[in-house]
Amino acid sequence: KQFNPDGKDFKLFTPGPVESPEWVLKEMGKANDTHRSLAYREMHRSIRTNLQKLLSTKNEILIFANSGTGILEACVRNLLKDDETGLFFTCGAFGDRWISIAKMNGKKSDVVSVDWGKGISPEIVKTALSKKKYPVVFITFNETSTGVLNPLEIIGPMVKESGALLCVDCVSGMGGTRLNVDEWGIDVALASVQKSFGIPPGISICSISERTFEKAKTVENRGFYFDFLKLKKKGESDEHPITPPIPQIRTLKTVLERIIAEDPENFYKGHTERTQMIRDWAIKNGFEIFSEEGYHSQTVVTITNNKNIDVAKFVNDMFESGYKIVNGYGSLKGKTFRMAPMGWITKEETQKMLDTASKVLKAL
Ligand code: PLP
Repeated sequence: KQFNPDGKDFKLFTPGPVESPEWVLKEMGKANDTHRSLAYREMHRSIRTNLQKLLSTKNEILIFANSGTGILEACVRNLLKDDETGLFFTCGAFGDRWISIAKMNGKKSDVVSVDWGKGISPEIVKTALSKKKYPVVFITFNETSTGVLNPLEIIGPMVKESGALLCVDCVSGMGGTRLNVDEWGIDVALASVQKSFGIPPGISICSISERTFEKAKTVENRGFYFDFLKLKKKGESDEHPITPPIPQIRTLKTVLERIIAEDPENFYKGHTERTQMIRDWAIKNGFEIFSEEGYHSQTVVTITNNKNIDVAKFVNDMFESGYKIVNGYGSLKGKTFRMAPMGWITKEETQKMLDTASKVLKAL
């Protein structure tokens, strides 16, 4: 079965990119103006204002013409001097990716890792911060490989107290899970649009604090494409230094307007309810949840294959039955599988997917 844009007959329950509803795809297909137009500046302005509302922050909003990994790279290049060591907390594949990115950019890291499936507890953070003074701390909010959500509302203020800058990978958390950026002391909160916002991939977004920009001024070789200061300077007049993917930007403007108009609390609640439905289904069918109790993600569920089913076949049979779910990530392939009801998927659609999963499982 192949992707057929003229007759798509399956729904995505994948942890990104996710299902984009018709009204989102319609926005993507509208005629373009250039990025040096009044229309572009108005879209850019609207995104800055509405993202500040969504994230409860006064921090500057930057739009990147690349996926989330680009901002992971931008953070190490803008915020770590070559003679400084960053503190990286990791609980899965995307935390590990950030450490590799730092290494590949010649930056030094101290790493605190926990077993996959476990969360990064406030105690772990407290111990690491008491050992040494760090200039920057890097952490993943919602670890998409393991389905773990870390308690930033507790960790954030602890890092702030230590004096370090706090960079948070919110790629698969932002939009679907509440983020109080200012209250929690997050200096960089970054995300891609192809997760909870339900937009086709292509751009990423982040909020950045003033003290982050001040630090960046002192760091050499920030590069050109990922320079926080260049993006800020252009962004303040609602422009972009390069040619950005205008359809995604227009769609993000519309999506944010809708989330704000319908109340972000409802959007979060929908995600929480749908992931709970999936966890309930998994337990009912004899599976275990891979993420530790108390750290369950509200956007993606990683299910342990304790029943030893043929996960590749299950995933394939689900696809043949109209639903795309995914195998475990990397070393978790075959040992777990993931279902993600992110974005604009409804409870009814989630229930239909789970009913199909029950039938497919039974046949298997
Ligand atoms: N961080 C997390 C937690 C992710 O889930 C992903 C993608 O799945 C990334 C980073 C990378 O983002 P992108 O694929 O937009 O570069």
